[in-house]
Amino acid sequence: MEDTSGEEEICIMKICCLSDIHGFLPKIPECDLLILAGDYTPTSGVRKELAWFNKFFAPWLEEQTAKVIGVAGNHDSLFEKAPELVPQMNWTYLQDNGITWNGFNIWGSPWQPRFWDWAFNADEKFMEHKWSLIPEDTDILILHGPPHGYGDFSIYGEEHTGSPSLTKRIEEIKPQLVVAGHIHSGYGIYHIGETIMVNASYVDEQYLAANEPVVLTINKRDKLASVCQFCGSPLIQTDGGSLFICSQGCLI
Ligand SMILES: [Zn+2]
Ligand SMILES: [Zn+2]
Repeated sequence: MEDTSGEEEICIMKICCLSDIHGFLPKIPECDLLILAGDYTPTSGVRKELAWFNKFFAPWLEEQTAKVIGVAGNHDSLFEKAPELVPQMNWTYLQDNGITWNGFNIWGSPWQPRFWDWAFNADEKFMEHKWSLIPEDTDILILHGPPHGYGDFSIYGEEHTGSPSLTKRIEEIKPQLVVAGHIHSGYGIYHIGETIMVNASYVDEQYLAANEPVVLTINKRDKLASVCQFCGSPLIQTDGGSLFICSQGCLI
């Protein structure tokens, strides 16, 4: 029998990333951890949202076999306006706080740059403070708004809409994985240095179901995602050493 007693323990986790379901409750592929990056409800207004969470979202969470961790989005005003009414549900909700799960340090934050007057809208200065709270040893960062320059290009304003100070903080901390949504047309996988950034928007700009949940396998020790979710091909290492791209060139 092979002696593995001297080997360092390797944490491998299959993660499903999903954002901006806007009322859709898709079937989730088999995974260890389901990350939800906000914009759940198909409606607006605290009372209507509460009814939807109770009637549809809570039972859907109950069905999940994976650990579920999520943040709120700008369409989830219940969490900002009436947090005391948010029902107990089968998930870990993060709002500028974190947990360690399965060896990974996970932090969540819902803030995004001001757009009309939606939930968790904030000015850059305020957000800069919120990003400063993200611990240095964060492995997985769950956001609603993507960082400036990555999955944040709005087809309406034809501009990058993400927070610049968030990009800066991600570059400092270098988490393994960042998951966001919010800008539906930004769906895809990006790299910020060594960090893999996923915009996991499920719906498109017309709020129609358009995209698959993004599934990644993460190995804590080697910091890599091993298989391309879009085509199943192996990810290949670039000559820089720590970046992995789809061998078929999917969306990267
Ligand atoms: Zn959305
Ligand atoms: Zn949003």
